[in-house]
Amino acid sequence: MNIDKVKEKLVYACRILALEGQGDHIWGHVTVRVPGRPELLFMKPATIGLEEIGPDDVITVNLDGEKVEGRLPRHIEVFIHTEVMRARPDVTAVVHTHPPHAVAFGALGRPLLPVGHDGAIFCDGLPVFSETTDLITDGARGEAVARTLGRHDGMLMRNHGIVTAADNIEEAVMKALFLERACKTQLLCEPCGGPRHVTPPDEAKVKQQRLLHESQVGAAFRYFVRRIGPLAREP
Ligand SMILES: [Zn+2]
Repeated sequence: MNIDKVKEKLVYACRILALEGQGDHIWGHVTVRVPGRPELLFMKPATIGLEEIGPDDVITVNLDGEKVEGRLPRHIEVFIHTEVMRARPDVTAVVHTHPPHAVAFGALGRPLLPVGHDGAIFCDGLPVFSETTDLITDGARGEAVARTLGRHDGMLMRNHGIVTAADNIEEAVMKALFLERACKTQLLCEPCGGPRHVTPPDEAKVKQQRLLHESQVGAAFRYFVRRIGPLAREP
């Protein structure tokens, strides 16, 4: 895929997250590896909202978290992305947001259950990063995040947010949407005494495979792209 297409996809990824309630003013970010240069990442820059980004705003950072191209500054939490990418050559895209239901659910300290289809996505386990609730502003903390994520593709950061990762940007975004909604759905059960019935483990696995099938993830991403419409380019 050419560079412009990848940047465009990163822009849509950011806007989809915003559309689905994962914007946090100017915070929250997405990265994707530069095609043919896996040691470089395209990233949403700091100082603008997820819904504001355009293709010309995309910056490039290296695995040490240094900006190597772009006019806007990088996010100070760049190390979440760089250290996950360094630890996981299989990962092409990383999402980090502060979605309210995931943050609220994470504060309960309860395991995520497969209440609905979304919860089934995380039936292999959902790590919780609890070393700090502060921002991840250096490589050492980024390494700790990557260590907690391990081989999983989704994680709660207690009193902070979420991280999702995948070998393509569509899946990283959809996992972020699934995770926030899974937390929201389980939270809906809490005032009624918690869920009494959840998806059986064998069915959860089947649903996980169905929902994460490349065709489903791609179709869902394209659905959101249609909702957002064409991107305006700077003159
Ligand atoms: Zn954060």
